Amino acid sequence: MKLYAPSTIRDIKEKYGFKLSKSLGQNFLTDKNIIDKIIDETEITEDDLVIEIGPGIGVLTAEACQRAKKVVAVEIDKNLIPILQETLGEYDNIEIINQDVLKTDLNEVIDKSGCRRAKIIGNLPYYITTPIIMALLEGGVRADSITIMMQKEVADRIKSGPGTKAYGALSVAVQYYCIVKNVATVPKEVFFPAPKVDSAVLRLDLREEKPVDLIDEKMFFRCIKAGFGQRRKTLSNSLMGLGDVTKEEVKECLDYSGIDEKRRAETLSLQEFASIANYFSKRDK
Ligand code: SAM
Repeated sequence: MKLYAPSTIRDIKEKYGFKLSKSLGQNFLTDKNIIDKIIDETEITEDDLVIEIGPGIGVLTAEACQRAKKVVAVEIDKNLIPILQETLGEYDNIEIINQDVLKTDLNEVIDKSGCRRAKIIGNLPYYITTPIIMALLEGGVRADSITIMMQKEVADRIKSGPGTKAYGALSVAVQYYCIVKNVATVPKEVFFPAPKVDSAVLRLDLREEKPVDLIDEKMFFRCIKAGFGQRRKTLSNSLMGLGDVTKEEVKECLDYSGIDEKRRAETLSLQEFASIANYFSKRDK
């Protein structure tokens, strides 16, 4: 059975009386090349645990089951569970968890699996793409990589560098935790039903060592938030958004970091944000 074929999706809908949920971001993949691309780029080995976020009817899941030691698929929609039990019935290395991924402790899943390495995959529901990515990264998920489909616009924001329009708090945060690789741009026509916008696949390799030395990670993220909170303002103004700093301290900090106070957050590298954050962390000690 070609799981990814629109006719299969229609048959499943009819057989199970299943209705696609717009609010759960159910746009299913119908293109085998894209499915293969996501699976190939994940570089799954037979020792790996693969965790899939939002398996839908299992198009990516089935391919992962053929390559991994174990696959754990976390699906929020209870109506998809009997469907997945049928479409994945031939595999004995699959576990389906009927739960919101944001309420699932993936490190516990990884520890329980007995696998040495874990890789996360998914065609993410658009409505919570950024919260899912940030929850994985801020929660310190112990996976090697996260290979995921998302709206192209979000992928552009994640991968862009200083001085570009798309560069922002999300770019700095994700690049702090991961090395970002662009895998593919995906036209909206390959989904059933087609969403309004194009998509892209990124592979995020979790860094073993962070790219900058920070005295206090929280201060780093506060500075990013303040800087981009008012991205049209110069740094001498936007950093006042930190709340507990004076104009003089901001000026001293920028002098110390060798950063022109007329620059804006969107021009700062990770290293420059780190220098600003470390200045204020030292001040607070
Ligand atoms: N992987 C399938 C595919 O590529 O055809 C389905 C992808 S569809 C874009 C997103 C899937 O995520 C849906 O099956 C949806 O029910 C599920 N989902 C939505 N929100 C979720 C959440 N918070 N936790 C787990 N799964 C979720």
